[in-house]
Amino acid sequence: MAYSQQLLRIPINRLPVPNPALPITLCQRSRLSGVDFDHLGFGDVFSDHMFRCEFTDGRWHSAQIVPYGPIAMEPGALCLHYGQAVFEGLKAFRGVDGVPRIFRPDRNADRLEQSCARLCIPPIDQELFCSAIEQLVTVDEKWLPQRRGESLYIRPLVFATEPNLLVKASDRYLFLIITAPVKGYFSTTDSGVSLRAEPNYTRAAMGGTGFAKTGGNYAATLRPGTDSVEQGFDQTLWLDSRDHCFVEEVGQMNIFFKIGDTFVTPPLKGTILPGVTRESVLTLLKDHGEKFEERPVSMEEVILAYDRGDLQEVFGAGTAAVIAPVSRIAYGEKTLNFDVSPENLASKWLYQTIVDIQTGVTEDIHGWNRIVRTDANTSRPVESVRF
Ligand SMILES: *Cc1c(COP(=O)(O)O)cnc(C)c1O
Repeated sequence: MAYSQQLLRIPINRLPVPNPALPITLCQRSRLSGVDFDHLGFGDVFSDHMFRCEFTDGRWHSAQIVPYGPIAMEPGALCLHYGQAVFEGLKAFRGVDGVPRIFRPDRNADRLEQSCARLCIPPIDQELFCSAIEQLVTVDEKWLPQRRGESLYIRPLVFATEPNLLVKASDRYLFLIITAPVKGYFSTTDSGVSLRAEPNYTRAAMGGTGFAKTGGNYAATLRPGTDSVEQGFDQTLWLDSRDHCFVEEVGQMNIFFKIGDTFVTPPLKGTILPGVTRESVLTLLKDHGEKFEERPVSMEEVILAYDRGDLQEVFGAGTAAVIAPVSRIAYGEKTLNFDVSPENLASKWLYQTIVDIQTGVTEDIHGWNRIVRTDANTSRPVESVRF
């Protein structure tokens, strides 16, 4: 098929020539001055521009940057009926040197490819993906928040636009990238998140779409998620779909347990979303000489470890919160409580280390950041960065 030619296998950070610049249509008037950067939410305000690219006649084309705004779509569009849609989530940060950095976009490009493959969506060239994000961040560079923890959240999405009521793979798609300045998550990091282990509903089953970032997975979590909130918990702890006994994920994060001196996280076997943060945490644990295991973790093991005082800490890992320490887990009649205040918790140094890499405080030894070089930032004095 024509689109397979676009699958370039070039390491993203080592591309010899920059991708050709995209056509850009600038907005008439920036909305930036109306944004209250002191009270940022999480994705309720969008930056001035968006990227768009269409798939018709068997190929992706018309890649460009345009003003953010409504899109015209037929009511018969397949995505609206049968959910043929996938998305990604990553962040750009303003470094302490004023330079924008995008965190590991190559990993999101890779995951988008896996999601697209599962949903029968034609793949998107990984370098187009990374380069489109870079150019979009360059155009809306002023939307990058300045304070530590804050970032420009980047949301790529691909969905089926062919008007057709047959249950089939669409022959037309739209690929958009929108961005939103978002707050840091200091409050959750300080107080921890409380979890309710879900006894009935499940997020994903073997052979399903759990590993893909596709909308339907999240629609399915709204009912149990609402139950968790109504019962006074922040998030739902997902258990396996067969026996409701093995831990899978927490809300939209991967989960880690520190049992004795070993970090344990469930393995990627198709039902768990392969998080970029999860992968980064595993690398950092390795760098620090910590012991870790990717293996199934049952609630029984968690409770036994807790009861004998061996469960040191539990934390979630995901782009939004980076690292979120867990303060409480309820499982049936049993409640486990954790003190998230000690400074020596792994969740604290992991959070600090990741944010330090993202903001250029610490050397990026693994080459995780894609540095955005713009005329505006190369002359920006470091003192102008607010902390
Ligand atoms: C996005 C997501 C994660 C975390 O992935 P990151 O790449 O670390 O942001 C974990 N679980 C689910 C269900 C997710 O949607």
